[in-house]
Amino acid sequence: MPFIQEWPAYLEALIRLLYPATCGLCSEMLNLQQRGLCKHCRNDLVALQYPISKIKNELSLTGIENVWTLFPYESTVRDLITAVKFSGKHWLLKEFSQSLQTFGMLASDAPSYDFVASIPSHVTTYVQREFNQADLLAQMVSKITRTPVKNMLHKKFHTPHQSRLNRRERAVNLWGVFSLRPKYRSVILDKSVLIVDDILTTGSTAEEAARCLADAGAAKIDFLALARTEPAAL
Ligand SMILES: [Zn+2]
Repeated sequence: MPFIQEWPAYLEALIRLLYPATCGLCSEMLNLQQRGLCKHCRNDLVALQYPISKIKNELSLTGIENVWTLFPYESTVRDLITAVKFSGKHWLLKEFSQSLQTFGMLASDAPSYDFVASIPSHVTTYVQREFNQADLLAQMVSKITRTPVKNMLHKKFHTPHQSRLNRRERAVNLWGVFSLRPKYRSVILDKSVLIVDDILTTGSTAEEAARCLADAGAAKIDFLALARTEPAAL
């Protein structure tokens, strides 16, 4: 799976000479010490992060004990996530490392999760994109919380056009979309799981994933999304 690669400094300098790097958001030329975003865009991103008191979300989702979100979606974060998903710039996820560290420190329960699990993408999407951004985020969370990633969930069918649906329509559209991969049937029993995704909209996807894990015997399920859309935007 492609992900953030670390090149030796001399090799990176050579590559940058041949292929100058630009900011993933504003296209400003980056110097050799800069990666991903320019200073201005990075500062904008840091300023956008929710204050610590808001990272633990007040949203109530069925079957989920704690909901965590780090950024408002309608912002530079939307541009970043769009660049990751639709322009293949998966390395830009590294810009969220600091925020995920904050989550790791804040969520005192985090080290006690048995597993981190990402919301899976359908195979069609995965083949087109060549990565699942939720899984890459889950790997980052895994390193921070020292909790193993288990890709327990399988997405059984493609669910296009979700963005135009309201909460109820989404729930109907998503019913039964996930299944537990058979090899995790005995692993999941009585375990606590942190589900990770890139965006929280209505919460229907998170609830459906949680229902699948709870049906399989999980004891506790929390949910972490990088960004949350404002309820008014739905
Ligand atoms: Zn920039």
